[in-house]
Amino acid sequence: MDCLFCKITNRELNSDIILENDKFLVFKDIHPKADVHVLIVPKKHIDSVDHITEEDAKFLGDIFLTAKEAAKKLGVSQAYKLAINVGKDGGQEIDHLHMHLLAERKEVSDT
Ligand code: AMP
Ligand code: ZN
Repeated sequence: MDCLFCKITNRELNSDIILENDKFLVFKDIHPKADVHVLIVPKKHIDSVDHITEEDAKFLGDIFLTAKEAAKKLGVSQAYKLAINVGKDGGQEIDHLHMHLLAERKEVSDT
């Protein structure tokens, strides 16, 4: 299957990896739409949320724990957005289920 995110999770293609566990790879979005923009991608290929099976649902809950861990690692705990686009008309460009984690970094003032 010719899937960009399968190639990234298989390490056939490079990405800027933030963290990895047995089920997910988290890497930086190549065209960031916020100061922090990473993608949480299951290693198993699932086309979209519309294609989740009962079996998939058993491990997909862990996507939230992985997002939380990534937010902590990126220093944006308690101030981020999670988003999943579903289907072409729902804004999904890559047909491999993924969650966006977006956050703006606070200005650090030295006064
Ligand atoms: P979506 O529109 O929800 O399918 O999101 C796909 C995201 O993947 C977009 O935000 C793209 O910028 C991002 N993207 C596309 N190619 C790559 C890549 N090679 N590495 C990292 N992110 C990518
Ligand atoms: Zn895939």
